[in-house]
Amino acid sequence: MELLDYIKASTMLERYGIRSVRSSYVSTPEEAIKFAGKKSIVLKLISDKALHKSKAGLIRVGLFDEGLIRNAFEYLTDRGKALKPYKIIAQEMASSGIEIIIGSNVDPQFGKMVLIGLGGIYVESFKDTSLRVCPITKNDAQDMVDQLKSSTVITYDGKSRDMIVELIVKVAKLVQDNDISELDLNPVIIRKNGYDVVDIRILK
Ligand code: ADP
Ligand code: MG
Repeated sequence: MELLDYIKASTMLERYGIRSVRSSYVSTPEEAIKFAGKKSIVLKLISDKALHKSKAGLIRVGLFDEGLIRNAFEYLTDRGKALKPYKIIAQEMASSGIEIIIGSNVDPQFGKMVLIGLGGIYVESFKDTSLRVCPITKNDAQDMVDQLKSSTVITYDGKSRDMIVELIVKVAKLVQDNDISELDLNPVIIRKNGYDVVDIRILK
């Protein structure tokens, strides 16, 4: 299995109408500052040697000025010495919301499956997920959302429920159309009027 490059993964999502936050590899603090413009950014170190970035302290969020960006960049390149080869990615800082996970894998018996659940730090502690075999219709996706214990927590209103349902259907289509053995959008940050995919992992 091979991990798809982050930017390629994000382009692949885009083709299925799934937006992820603006992201770009940066190789100098100046590039990161230029990427930020006047906005807050996040810097992340990506390396095969550290798959769980936040646990390893490889994410710096809320970088709202040049000084913070320079410090974070220096900190990450220093950490990177032990994690070569690595890349640093700059991302637009998403506003806060509720974090969900949308994932997919291949079951030896049933084939491609899609999972949704409460994301971020809650994935392991609440184990509140629902799972379906592909193909997944809009109705299936609605059931998946409604079956979650946290259903009312992650859907603010009918509109945001529809938005999550649509995302599930799009993810199911993407994994069905392509040679993908695992996919994780973790988290997708859900807000009342939108969403932000901030972490993508696709294994071919
Ligand atoms: P990992 O899963 O490898 O630890 P993530 O990229 O998922 O790393 O980031 C961990 C957490 O950091 C996310 O759950 C989210 O809370 C926060 N985060 C990551 N990227 C962003 C971003 N672009 N905007 C806002 N918050 C972010
Ligand atoms: Mg993640």
